[in-house]
Amino acid sequence: MQSKDLFERSKKVAPGGVHSPVRSFAGMGREPVFFKKAQGPYLWSVEEQRYIDFCQSFGPLVLGHRDEEIEADVHEMISTAWSFGACEPYSLELAEWITSHIPWVEKLRFVSSGTEAVMSALRVARAATGKDKILKFEGCYHGHVDSLLVKAGSGLAGVAASSSAGISQRMAEATIVTPLDDDALLEKVFQDFGSELAAVIIEPLPANYGLLIQRKEFLQKVAALAKANNVLLIFDEVISGFRMALGGMAEILGITPDLVTYGKVIGGGFPVGCYGGRKDLLDLVAPNGPVYQAGTLSANPVGMRAGLRTLQKMKRLNGWSVLEERSAYFESQVKGAFADKGMTFIRQGSLFWFHYKTDAPLRRVDQIPPQQKENFNKVFLSGLKNGLYLAPNAYEVGFISMAHTNEILDQSASILKAALKEI
Ligand SMILES: *Cc1c(COP(=O)(O)O)cnc(C)c1O
Repeated sequence: MQSKDLFERSKKVAPGGVHSPVRSFAGMGREPVFFKKAQGPYLWSVEEQRYIDFCQSFGPLVLGHRDEEIEADVHEMISTAWSFGACEPYSLELAEWITSHIPWVEKLRFVSSGTEAVMSALRVARAATGKDKILKFEGCYHGHVDSLLVKAGSGLAGVAASSSAGISQRMAEATIVTPLDDDALLEKVFQDFGSELAAVIIEPLPANYGLLIQRKEFLQKVAALAKANNVLLIFDEVISGFRMALGGMAEILGITPDLVTYGKVIGGGFPVGCYGGRKDLLDLVAPNGPVYQAGTLSANPVGMRAGLRTLQKMKRLNGWSVLEERSAYFESQVKGAFADKGMTFIRQGSLFWFHYKTDAPLRRVDQIPPQQKENFNKVFLSGLKNGLYLAPNAYEVGFISMAHTNEILDQSASILKAALKEI
């Protein structure tokens, strides 16, 4: 089996040969690698080449691949049942764990993806406020929800235009888009649309269009303006939740959202999403309230067990500070090599990214230097040749897991340094 042949076959049966676009290595000048096995920090391709993996399935695998405790729980669960479509104790245990550790998640509902979580949270917000419009920020990704697959319209801030075909104009127009890090435009948007906004949704650590670390003051302003205008604050913590801290970015920032969405880490590598928050808001959801939301495989017990074990293990090992230490070490090993090439390696917690050097810290999409793609692709391809797998796209971040020991990070740093030398 060769990746090349498998990709040719895949292209005949799936659009672009893939089931999620970034996997296709589009614009990379080669076919994607097909993997067949994974363990800890490693991936193995169908050609038997081993890679150190900094994609980690785009974030869910905070303990690395096939953590042995999770594997044991999953095996035990599968030998018992793998779906009930009925009440069971496994989701209760995870729900109790989360609500007892995160005070602003008073109640929650499990779904099967981050996209579903966001879509449902927006529905709750519209029902709770009786208002229709949603405010989002340029460069934040919230899954492929129709009303959020939008970009700024004609102005810098204001009514959105769709960023995907197949989205009805009316859907896009229900969304207002404004740039990150612009206090004045934010104030203006609230002035113009505050009375029509049901919610403002933001990635408190935008990590889907590079890593655009925000000023705390800006996020505080978002929260304050939302509150003053009776607009619900939704933190989309699908990437940051249970990765940056137990309580995600909300805990780090000391900002309490009305609703929060989780995904990725919460399922330990299985398809789990979740929306939660204020009890009065969650009580609007069926069967208690008028907001309909359901799922055949919601709270799938295998995902529930994997998620619970992941969170428990992270807490037991004080995983968030371990990740911080390891990631800081990695940063110290590679930062200089990037700087030598006129690049900046940036990091928050276990997420990292690199880009051409800019005068000021990057906080907005339009500040990303135009050479990003060309530059990233070179590092990516050279790394790949030498056994290092980054997420295959210039705007995706790197993920460090608990399986990335300092020894693994040393090896990774050498590969990256060699890759940079080739540029
Ligand atoms: C990944 C992601 C989503 C979408 O989650 P899926 O499980 O891919 O649907 C939404 N929001 C953020 C912030 C994400 O990182």
